[in-house]
Amino acid sequence: MNTPHARSTSSSPALRRLSEATWTWTHDSNDWGYSNAGLIASQGQAMLVDTQFTLDSTQQLLDAVEGVCPLDAVGSVVSTHQNGDHTWGNQLLPRAEIITSVASAAGTCHEMGPDQLTQLCWSTAEGKAAAYVVEHFGRFDFSGVTVVPPTRTFEGREEIRVGEVLVELIDLGAGHSAGDVAVHVPDAGVVYAGDALFSGGHMMVWSQSLSGCIRACQTLLDTRAEVFVPGHGTLLDRAGVAGIRDQLSVVADAAGSYAQRGVPLADAAHLIKAAYAGSWAHPERLFTQTAAAYAEAGIPGMPSSTWEMLEGMVSLTP
Ligand SMILES: [Zn+2]
Repeated sequence: MNTPHARSTSSSPALRRLSEATWTWTHDSNDWGYSNAGLIASQGQAMLVDTQFTLDSTQQLLDAVEGVCPLDAVGSVVSTHQNGDHTWGNQLLPRAEIITSVASAAGTCHEMGPDQLTQLCWSTAEGKAAAYVVEHFGRFDFSGVTVVPPTRTFEGREEIRVGEVLVELIDLGAGHSAGDVAVHVPDAGVVYAGDALFSGGHMMVWSQSLSGCIRACQTLLDTRAEVFVPGHGTLLDRAGVAGIRDQLSVVADAAGSYAQRGVPLADAAHLIKAAYAGSWAHPERLFTQTAAAYAEAGIPGMPSSTWEMLEGMVSLTP
């Protein structure tokens, strides 16, 4: 039987000021589930960018936010996408609008819920995929989580004022997820990118669109911002974002060429991991990048469900 690991849940998150009106909540971890968040506060109004995976970790974030502004000031939460590690604390801000893109909101129904994930962590299922879930998610306690869907959606771009600060919401389309959103604060030169950017770890592609991930990096660079808060990992500068874009492009080219030559997906994923894993965390996610490139090359039957992605990733683990 799988037993969730009794590991520490601490990853030393901290609220750090980026400019007069912007803060970031970042973790010292590239492990699954430790997502970054953002705070924009000005003149008695505030916007949160994403919540956390569990109620406890979101409460920890909100306690830190209260050091900047009263929680009543948080009138909106922007969900960068619908993965639980960015949204499962939404219920702790019941008076806030939950804003995301139309495509992101539409993806909600495909997400695994907290009960399902808990069941998986405690299931007696054998095999590498089940063990992977336990290893990476068994440390989190999802009790009490109710998934709160978005209350307001937008398409394209939308400008919102938070006090005196202009905030631009950018609909990045499908890439990491079925619909990703970035939050740009032009006066601060800051972009909260959600999981359109992973820093120090490989990109997870849930959407079957690796080209969408590459385009999203370019869209983020086109804001001319200097500071990028990724969904996971440490802050990035422009060179860091360009590096991620270029790495994804190299993988896309290699995978596209394997697809054209009729190399089976499993073989291509192994070859790509051997060539491009480098030192970034979670090289097994290269399976999802390869599978997305194969889907975009028109290869039918490519994995798309959470479980198929997991099975593919664990095939790349030792
Ligand atoms: Zn995430």
